[in-house]
Amino acid sequence: MKELTPLEEALRAVLSSAKPLETQRVFIHEALGMVLAEDIRADTDKPLFDNSAMDGYAVRWEDVKQVPARLKLIGEYTAGTGEDITLLPGTAIKIFTGAPLPKGADTVIPVEYTEEKNGEVIVKKSFKKGANVRKRGEDMREGQLVLKKGTPIRGYEMGILSSLNVPLVSVRRRPNVGILSTGDEILDVCEPRTKPSQIRTSNNYMLHGLVKRAGGIPYNLGILPDDPNTLKEALKNAHRYDIFITTGGVSMGEKDYVKELVKELNVDVKFHKLRIKPAKPVLFGTFADGKLFFGLPGNPVSSAVAFDLLVYPAIRAMMGFRNPEREKRSAVLDEDYARKSADRREFARAVVYFKDGRYHCIPLKKQDSHMLTSLSEANAYMVVPEGVLSLKKGEEVEVILID
Ligand code: AMP
Ligand code: MG
Repeated sequence: MKELTPLEEALRAVLSSAKPLETQRVFIHEALGMVLAEDIRADTDKPLFDNSAMDGYAVRWEDVKQVPARLKLIGEYTAGTGEDITLLPGTAIKIFTGAPLPKGADTVIPVEYTEEKNGEVIVKKSFKKGANVRKRGEDMREGQLVLKKGTPIRGYEMGILSSLNVPLVSVRRRPNVGILSTGDEILDVCEPRTKPSQIRTSNNYMLHGLVKRAGGIPYNLGILPDDPNTLKEALKNAHRYDIFITTGGVSMGEKDYVKELVKELNVDVKFHKLRIKPAKPVLFGTFADGKLFFGLPGNPVSSAVAFDLLVYPAIRAMMGFRNPEREKRSAVLDEDYARKSADRREFARAVVYFKDGRYHCIPLKKQDSHMLTSLSEANAYMVVPEGVLSLKKGEEVEVILID
């Protein structure tokens, strides 16, 4: 039998084909979850002017060195004020958070340490010179590099972009991902069952969710029977997507046509079988124009594992993420784990949690590749290395987080 491809080699092949996609300009709202494709610099100093960090009174520090101190109130500065008063010795201005510091003032006394009476304010506590004042430029200087090209955009970055007055921002576009299931026995949701041997699809909808969550744009193209002509016709358009995923039809069965058809469609097949469990039959190749083709196994759990290990990184790499793979952690095993054969690296569905300063891992009981419940309960895969038949409680294991 032909050698099974090691996962590292497979991942290298995928990542060397998954080139970052073109950039596009999107409004801040659309940029969430995408990767910045340009450097963003500060448009002005931030803050742009010295201003108050508190509600209180703007004073000259010399006047309140000794407390209590009594100062004449000569005005009020609210945030966004148009006032332009100069503070002379012995006077104070009532000030609110964010309001510019009046000329002559250098310190703000918070309202809770004061008392206002008959047009005067009594300062009861002394503060350091410059206390409660936000200085011009202390967060950013005009022209300073604030967000580097390659930064993933979260809500925080969206806030920064708007504060820098950048409404349209350059990002890498999301890949379009076509999803097609194959199998005579597979029914779509709502399709009537006409034979007891038929099964309802999981993969179309599972992959739709996984692609979307990863950042791609999923197109659920439904289910086709195991008929070479129908499949060939459908796959003729596969290269129109940045990534095309099929499920089923890549194993050793006589009706597994996908693996033959891709060759007819001039897909340059990089690997077909992996030394992993589940998800041994995974086919990957590229179309002449560089678009990616993944033939995932029909078993839903195998399909999910293959997605997480290979398609997820492809989507993320195309979007410009520097670390496109799912996150890994080291965890301590809470229970013994044993398996019957050690010839492949296994990705066992597991629950990982944080307790007493470290991650713990509990492998789930149902590990067969058709058992969907294991995926719903899991938040990680526990990696069982090749050649390892059993792991003992307390041992260190590698886990891959999934969501
Ligand atoms: P295959 O890879 O075509 O040999 O399919 C392997 C197993 O996965 C079979 O038991 C199929 O019935 C099942 N399967 C294939 N496609 C799907 C699907 N879309 N949803 C759920 N199970 C599937
Ligand atoms: Mg099939």
